[in-house]
Amino acid sequence: MTVRKKPFIVPFLSIAYVVVVCSFSLLSIGIYQNFVSFQGYPVLPPHLPLSVNTGLPSKPSATPSTSGESSISSTETPPSSQASRPQLPPDAPNYMRLYPEMYAPGPQPGSEAARDMTLYLTFDDGPSKNTNAVLDILDQYGIKATFFVVPNDSQSCAERLREIHDRGHTIGVHSKTHDYRAIYKDVESYLNDFSAAYEIVYQATGAYPTLFRFPGGSINSYNRDTYMEIIQEMERRGFVYFDWNISAQDAQKGITAEEVYQNVMSSLGKRKSGVVLMHDSNARGTTVEALPRIIETLQEKGFQFDRLSNHVHPIQFR
Ligand SMILES: [Zn+2]
Repeated sequence: MTVRKKPFIVPFLSIAYVVVVCSFSLLSIGIYQNFVSFQGYPVLPPHLPLSVNTGLPSKPSATPSTSGESSISSTETPPSSQASRPQLPPDAPNYMRLYPEMYAPGPQPGSEAARDMTLYLTFDDGPSKNTNAVLDILDQYGIKATFFVVPNDSQSCAERLREIHDRGHTIGVHSKTHDYRAIYKDVESYLNDFSAAYEIVYQATGAYPTLFRFPGGSINSYNRDTYMEIIQEMERRGFVYFDWNISAQDAQKGITAEEVYQNVMSSLGKRKSGVVLMHDSNARGTTVEALPRIIETLQEKGFQFDRLSNHVHPIQFR
């Protein structure tokens, strides 16, 4: 009898082994889903209900404010103040501990490729003395755009930022100093520069930006050694960056309005959507001059315009 029992022991042990392995696997998946990690470091779980400026109209809160400040927009609260700040392990790089409130919600559910026949006009380096003229033209054609700003501490800058925000456009961070050598030295230098611009935008508009654009684009000749670590850290913090795939090349010295117009049309090519790089700076009067014709021609081609948000799948060089 003992000889006949042996064959049953082998399948029994095999089944027991499979059950144990499956249990461990399911347990591991459960732990992973509750603690999404980025290269070994904790990040904000993507499903957290954060309240920041997404570039879209904010929904009124379903629950009444306990502080009685119901008129205050939810965009006034930094996302990390909602007990969602990640716990960092002891060996985390020091820069991860800098600016512990500076987090954003990351790409939002539903982020997909840009809609067909939609273009996203973006203006870098403002605000400037040309900002109001740009805003008036955008209003005239009833379109929204995005401004990646290089703000300073002046009153006029604050007023222009507020104007951009109040007229319904998206503000993203570009830089405080726009000094390539300084900001791309290392991650800490980049964060120092970013946070200075981030705070100025908040002070002026009451809303924290969640989008940004790297000066010179995400990969350039100044950040070859540091861009990967900087991008990782900014994405760990939930910020979304946008490069571009259509350029007015309007930062070139001596360029004419006709050339700005032609550059947009030629780099658009046969694209059905895209992010258009233009500039809003004191020296860019030709951009203002070319803008109405650019918009009219693109509208005639059937394009519509929208502002960027973290619901739009980003155009990135990498
Ligand atoms: Zn720039």
